[in-house]
Amino acid sequence: TRTFFVGGNWKMNGSVAAVSTLVDGLNTASLKQGVEVVIAPPALYIPAVQSSLKAGHVAAQNIYSESKGAFTGEISAEMLKDVGVQWVILGHSERRHVFGETDELIAKKAKHALGVGLKVIFCIGETLQEREANKTTEVVFHQLSAVAQVVSDWSNIVIAYEPVWAIGTGKVATPVQAQEVHHDIRVWLKDHVSPQAAENTRIVYGGSVNAGNCQEIGRQADVDGFLVGGASLKPEFADIINAAQ
Ligand code: 13P
Repeated sequence: TRTFFVGGNWKMNGSVAAVSTLVDGLNTASLKQGVEVVIAPPALYIPAVQSSLKAGHVAAQNIYSESKGAFTGEISAEMLKDVGVQWVILGHSERRHVFGETDELIAKKAKHALGVGLKVIFCIGETLQEREANKTTEVVFHQLSAVAQVVSDWSNIVIAYEPVWAIGTGKVATPVQAQEVHHDIRVWLKDHVSPQAAENTRIVYGGSVNAGNCQEIGRQADVDGFLVGGASLKPEFADIINAAQ
């Protein structure tokens, strides 16, 4: 009874015109009922998406860990709440690898966001090198532990398992690979958070999801949805939403 969740992470893409085209496309597509759809545009375009998107909510792609102050270029969880945004993506691979965000900073942001009443799409995942060294579970458990050390209530967290080697590469994890890690994450939740958290927490897959591969991945027992990058900027995003189980 975990509601299927499909997130669209637009990353640093878009324009006034593109936002309007993308939202119009979603508003006119016939979408399966009962799927939780969350779109994460660049922060500047959040209000435009929010005011025009009919079925779905918006997310920010990041926040800072403080409420306000001398942090040039940042936005806060409080500001998102102030404009009616309910969700934020934290710990995305690009934040970790391009901008050097640590597990500790991401955990601090997650605690702050949840405290303010935002819901968090918390991203984890291993690099190719880590997978080849058989360190996948070690890496994702470490990423999970950083948050578990400061957050006990996981009811407003969606975990996005996004293997770094699959992000933007066209190399999607096989359904078996995704299911294995999702299952391991669920067992970790049971052992380190609670059996209820293991049962109720959505674990979604991200990394080169498209209309062609989403059905089979979405059918896996521990896959509760997707976090989609490139394909969320295309009409096929509607097909991915409709792949909900
Ligand atoms: P792609 O779907 O473009 O591989 O990106 C996945 C992702 O990073 C979503 O957050």
